[in-house]
Amino acid sequence: MKEFTYSIEQISALISEKSSLPFPNQVIHRLLTDSRKVTETKNTLFFVLKGRKNAHHYIKDLYHKGVRSFVYYDQGFDITNFPDANFLYSPDPLRALQNLAAVHRGKFSFPVIGITGSNGKTVVKEWLYQLLAYKYTIVRSPKSYNSQIGVPLSIWKMDTLYNLAIFEAGISQTGEMERLEKIIKPSIGVFTNIGSSHDEGFSDKEEKIAEKFKLFAHVNKLICNKEFSEYAPQSVDLYTWSLDDNTANLYVKEISVEDTGTSIKSTYEDREISIKIPFKDKASTENAITCLLVMLVFGYSESEIEDKMSKLHPVKMRLEMKSGINNTSIIDDSYNSDLSSLEIALDFLNHQQQHQNKTLILSDIQQSGLDGQQLYQTVARLLESKGVDKVIGIGEEISKHQNLFGSNSSFFSDTSNFLDKLDLSAFRDETILLKGARTFGFEKISSALSQQVHETILEINLNAMEHNLNYYRSKLKPGVKLMTMVKAFGYGSGSFEIANLLQFNHVDYLSVAYADEGVTLRQNGITLPIMVMSPEISSLEAIVKHQLEPEIFSQSTLEAFSNYLQNAGISNYPIHLKLDTGMHRLGFMPDELDFIADFIKTKNTVKIQSVFSHLVASESPIHDDFTRQQISIIKDFTNKLEQRIGYTFIKHICNTSAITRWPEAQFDMVRLGIGLYGVDNFSEDDENLEQVAVLKTTVSQIKQIKRGETIGYGRRGVMPEDGQIATVKIGYADGFLRALGNGVGSMFINGEEVFTIGNICMDMCMLNITGKNVKEGDEVIVFNSQKRLYKLAEKLNTIPYEILTSVSQRVKRVYYYE
Ligand SMILES: *Cc1c(COP(=O)(O)O)cnc(C)c1O
Repeated sequence: MKEFTYSIEQISALISEKSSLPFPNQVIHRLLTDSRKVTETKNTLFFVLKGRKNAHHYIKDLYHKGVRSFVYYDQGFDITNFPDANFLYSPDPLRALQNLAAVHRGKFSFPVIGITGSNGKTVVKEWLYQLLAYKYTIVRSPKSYNSQIGVPLSIWKMDTLYNLAIFEAGISQTGEMERLEKIIKPSIGVFTNIGSSHDEGFSDKEEKIAEKFKLFAHVNKLICNKEFSEYAPQSVDLYTWSLDDNTANLYVKEISVEDTGTSIKSTYEDREISIKIPFKDKASTENAITCLLVMLVFGYSESEIEDKMSKLHPVKMRLEMKSGINNTSIIDDSYNSDLSSLEIALDFLNHQQQHQNKTLILSDIQQSGLDGQQLYQTVARLLESKGVDKVIGIGEEISKHQNLFGSNSSFFSDTSNFLDKLDLSAFRDETILLKGARTFGFEKISSALSQQVHETILEINLNAMEHNLNYYRSKLKPGVKLMTMVKAFGYGSGSFEIANLLQFNHVDYLSVAYADEGVTLRQNGITLPIMVMSPEISSLEAIVKHQLEPEIFSQSTLEAFSNYLQNAGISNYPIHLKLDTGMHRLGFMPDELDFIADFIKTKNTVKIQSVFSHLVASESPIHDDFTRQQISIIKDFTNKLEQRIGYTFIKHICNTSAITRWPEAQFDMVRLGIGLYGVDNFSEDDENLEQVAVLKTTVSQIKQIKRGETIGYGRRGVMPEDGQIATVKIGYADGFLRALGNGVGSMFINGEEVFTIGNICMDMCMLNITGKNVKEGDEVIVFNSQKRLYKLAEKLNTIPYEILTSVSQRVKRVYYYE
């Protein structure tokens, strides 16, 4: 609940030149820019942002859901269709959002920490929260909301109950930081470091640093590495740290990596400060030093600092989804619990369509700054708006307020109490969100409810997939539709889990190879149109029953399907005609035009939804003439067919690599396949994609082996010298093919490449780890980048498509979203 609120009339006076306010007293709690994340409809103000497809279309949908206040920019938009809503006109709604946030920021005088830098912003922000929350009531950016949109939305969360704010700011080009500075107006600046990311927007490193430092234009205190001190504004109180310059305020003398963490010895104002953090990597050490200096500047005592630093825990911003017992999906977010991350997790829960029932297991929410009654009232209202059916509350505090939650809820004093009474059969066909503060140890609940996960998993990064989707979207001409190919278990990455994401992102069509794949999607809540590329006669009934749309590729398939429809009394059923323009796989030949036209004109059983063909070498310049010919054949064919049958249909031919290479062939729709999963045969696109799938396993056992001893079946592997081998749980039955044995294939452990030794077994294989620092239980990466995929493909004399689709179904997929 916001204490500090505005009426729409007040907001209008601040940001709009011209408005229509039938309900001027409407109170606004929530600012919304993403129509998919709507809750609390009445008190929401929606900003129609430019650069989004048909942005004003969202107004209608949101109005129906109950949103009553909008900021829009198209003066031609007819607001009289929405008589019960307030409309604020602004030529630039993003600017209006930022201005509103800046005004809101001005209402508060408590300290605001502004963090920027290339890496570590989110970690430093979250760690400062972990370190300072016991003394302050802190408002901070949710996740990594640090962009031109994310920053104003974060600032809007400032309220009278807080006494410290921590916000991060991220930019990708010049000019952006000045705007963020005006909104955040930090009083204390923190600079993490500079790296090479987002270099495109800047002419050089100097410019990038100078630009980032604009966040600190008006800070009183600034904390950074001494190497950047020349960029600091003149009048600021500068606090620096350094590893090699003893004139820095915090001089770090010694860093030693130990078994359980890292010890850092330093001096600050002639005091010796020693801390130990439970991390061993370099980035964590650097981030911890930055946090240490902030704590010193805040005046904490050595013992407080030492104690808090030793208890830092990893920042896990990701939500993991995996399959659970009794056909459930488990969304695991058992690392932190506060209101904004709860809201984000509930959004993700809400996007899942695979089960009707949604359950939340929630611990006490700690350090919110609200009193219990207020807090759990807010939580209860939030749950209602997000359609959660069942709540299980764990903790003394939430239990005290159980009367605020619906009848379908139960409460337990702590996690072990819940586990003691756990009846697994009470969970079935539902999506379960686990959201617990770290101290509640929800990992135990997660492992009780999850299916046994083998130690080999394929991790699917849903953010990366969304990124790739948006990349190709940005390459489409206006009005071109997008069909995404989710055949073959989504190129190995998953079925409804992927389709859910695509549906949520409003793609136009999905395509699968076989009817049963389409049926699975339908049974898991996917309502998008679905094309089936290889419909079999035996599956026609299932196709019609589940409203799947078949590809028709020959006279006999057309006749068979039409007969089926006629018997079933169905007319105008949508079909997709496949034309063979040179692939010579499935498809009508162009000279079958007469047959098709006559058939369509005389029968009313089917309606042509689309006509399409497939390019055979769209990525390859040496075949460009052939590609041109294929494009021209389909153009000619569809023109004639449309004239003959008297109606138009969708025309499409582009696969992934054609989308950017052959924009003139985008026609009405494109079919995105492998690009969605992070690979494009056309290298210019490839560089802009993010890797979606990571295949990893673990070291099961390590052995000392003498030179000359043999390893594995057939004694094919011979130890070249005295050394060690590691046995890992992945074999050819998992998709790590036998051809990768005997040193052909490799994996990565702790960043180092290690090669196979001996033949690959069915479920396991052995790696030569001589001279490497490897322990049992260590994580082993099979592939985690496009480069590795290409490398593996090259060694196996195949293409990345085959590597991805070979990962067997017994390898558990874990989906995550950050
Ligand atoms: C698989 C497939 C695609 C997608 O191809 P990519 O190269 O993966 O983009 C497109 N069209 C048809 C007919 C397909 O079978």
